[in-house]
Amino acid sequence: MNAGRGLFVVLSRWAHRHAFLSLGFRVVRGMPELPEVEVIARGLHSSLVGLRITSVEHVDLTRLSEPADSLLPKLVGKTVKRAYRRAKVLLIEMDDALTLAFHLKMTGRVVHGPTRDADKHDRLFLALDDGSLLSFSDMRKFGYVRSFTPEELEDWDLLKKAGPEPLEASATALAKRVVDRKGRIKALLLDQSVVVGVGNIYADEVLFRAGIHPETRGHRISTVKARKLFSELQSVLRQAIAENGSSIRDYVNADGDAGAFQNNFNVYGKKGEPCGACGSTLRAVKVAGRTSTFCPKCQPKRG
Ligand SMILES: [Zn+2]
Repeated sequence: MNAGRGLFVVLSRWAHRHAFLSLGFRVVRGMPELPEVEVIARGLHSSLVGLRITSVEHVDLTRLSEPADSLLPKLVGKTVKRAYRRAKVLLIEMDDALTLAFHLKMTGRVVHGPTRDADKHDRLFLALDDGSLLSFSDMRKFGYVRSFTPEELEDWDLLKKAGPEPLEASATALAKRVVDRKGRIKALLLDQSVVVGVGNIYADEVLFRAGIHPETRGHRISTVKARKLFSELQSVLRQAIAENGSSIRDYVNADGDAGAFQNNFNVYGKKGEPCGACGSTLRAVKVAGRTSTFCPKCQPKRG
């Protein structure tokens, strides 16, 4: 671990503890996954549609964002038509079909709330005609915002190469995408060209639910088991969306990643704790560079 990364770990631990203490709820660590982005999109859709952007303040756009000179003039006077999600991207479509795309990456947040002063993590402020503010902030600056015409959006590589939406394809169709591959199942689940929206948290949880060891190669998994894996994925994602939806106000108005789903984690982040199903000690292994926590008894290793 180099010094910079060590410092980041210390800072993020501090931030995590601070958020826990000051806001009174636990935060989901790591990159927002499909349910988090879906919940944010739904919240923004219900609060933003019909509002007009009256002014735009370039607070501090990130390197990966569209340059302010090109982005800002396109936004003033536009009215929000809808907010939705594709893969892990948050999309806000304007009345003239221009779409703003936000990739939140690790720490990006799009919040609609009362107007306020900018702080050092704010990247973009959109003032709306009801006096409210849509802000994009990003502590670690990996997130970005770009605008697209409908044709450009269709052509955007990130979405073009994206695999199917896990809640729109059938479990059978999704199973077919992994059972003839040599890659390890955990890596396949994280591969956005195989299926979109799954990150470390949900990948670990569904592998536990399906009883599959994270290092198992795709072609060693039976079709029945793979189907079970994806139907578990669908139910976990639906549950997470429903539970985060119940705390949607926290998502939209506060600056925390509130949500109840983390209370249901079976394995994620629980290395060394006893398995809730069999009592074995949960272990962790690295797959595709990511820590994967699993139960050695409930998820036996097979090839
Ligand atoms: Zn177990």
